[in-house]
Amino acid sequence: MEKPVVAVIGAGPAGLMAAELLSAAGVAVTVYDRMPSVGRKLLMAGRGGLNLTHSEPFEQFVSRYGQAASHLRPMLEAFPPSALVAWANALGIETFIGSSGRVFPKAMKASPLLRAWLARLDRQGVQFRLRHAWRGWKDGALQFRAPEGDIAVAPDATLLALGGASWPRLGSTGDWTSILAEQGVAIAPLLPANCGFCVAWSDIFRVRFAGQPLKSAQFGHGGRSVRGEAMVTGYGIEGGAIYALSAALRDAIAKDGQAVLDIDLRPDQSDEHLVRKLSKSRGKDSLSNHLRKTLNLSPVEINLMRESAELSPDPTALSHRIKNVRLILTGTQGLDRAISTAGGISFDAVDKNLMLKALPRVYAAGEMLDWEAPTGGYLLQACFATGAFAARTIAARIGA
Ligand SMILES: Cc1cc2nc3c(=O)[nH]c(=O)nc-3n(C[C@H](O)[C@H](O)[C@H](O)COP(=O)(O)OP(=O)(O)OC[C@H]3O[C@@H](n4cnc5c(N)ncnc54)[C@H](O)[C@@H]3O)c2cc1C
Repeated sequence: MEKPVVAVIGAGPAGLMAAELLSAAGVAVTVYDRMPSVGRKLLMAGRGGLNLTHSEPFEQFVSRYGQAASHLRPMLEAFPPSALVAWANALGIETFIGSSGRVFPKAMKASPLLRAWLARLDRQGVQFRLRHAWRGWKDGALQFRAPEGDIAVAPDATLLALGGASWPRLGSTGDWTSILAEQGVAIAPLLPANCGFCVAWSDIFRVRFAGQPLKSAQFGHGGRSVRGEAMVTGYGIEGGAIYALSAALRDAIAKDGQAVLDIDLRPDQSDEHLVRKLSKSRGKDSLSNHLRKTLNLSPVEINLMRESAELSPDPTALSHRIKNVRLILTGTQGLDRAISTAGGISFDAVDKNLMLKALPRVYAAGEMLDWEAPTGGYLLQACFATGAFAARTIAARIGA
């Protein structure tokens, strides 16, 4: 009997995970991708150490997906963080839990994992068609632009795993939105997530401090605060703590044209403690030296405090400023450099098996679905889990 045939379009984590499970279930799988090599965004994620997933309790983990949590729950339950770690270990990739609870491969990069994974897919007979850009359907068949010309393919089922639209030069451009919208699939606009924000720095501050980190501060917006690190950039500010607030900051800017970011530069020290230290005589020291010597404030921190107004030498006023630096964010950095994408195929447009209601036998997984999450391993986990889930439902549907 002929094997059922599935086309997986998109060779990122979601598509490759689906290809692995489908081929293991006896399906003939061909993976198509527009790029000359696979997993480019996964490899890029590896440059930052490849935060695969997170070790926090499951309920807390699921809550990170906000409004999409209820939609993603069945997929995350079927393929939880522990399953992802076991899967990586079975590929020969040892993992460890970092101090923040994030899970990384010991090698802190993606290439060994991708190499071992591709070898497994090869053993399972998965075929790859690279430099194949998907362009939609014609007469029910998938259409690709390939080096040898246009080709048409009519599989038994199709999994779309085309990613979001961040870092488009890695292959995920979001060009699928117009193709699917034409077919009546509801799509929430693709927006930058886990991204940087614009701040109108003074020229002096920008030139002197772009590239410098703000460490162990507390960043707040709209009643929520996050401890962590951020980086001053030429255009404004970015980094882990900012990414964690980025959805709310982005939405505030879209609504009001700007967003307020409050920074506490010494979150572990009370006002009273700071006032006491700052009340020490400063002798002949400049105010900057006094701040540096008494509280170990760095030049970037001191000048950040100065960006909004001149500093008063009064200890109470100084302490207040240290704990309440207020930045006005005037814009959101574009998708080009965002870590991930918000928006995508609405969960109302897919059934509980991740099949597109408007397009029977066509499924979707990964970042192209309408969810977002902070950094911390939540992005890859959801991509792997939705890819695995779609593969299982496709295999069941086509009788593999
Ligand atoms: C700099 C950076 C660092 C990151 N670090 C982390 C991290 O540490 N931890 C984490 O959890 N997440 C991280 N992410 C996010 C994570 O990499 C993505 O969420 C994940 O790769 C998305 O997987 P996916 O399979 O949905 O899509 P993708 O990985 O984007 O793959 C989609 C594939 O589809 C192909 N494609 C798109 N359109 C077409 C078309 N029309 N025809 C043919 N092929 C097409 C693309 O070429 C691409 O290969 C990072 C992202 C970036 C940019």
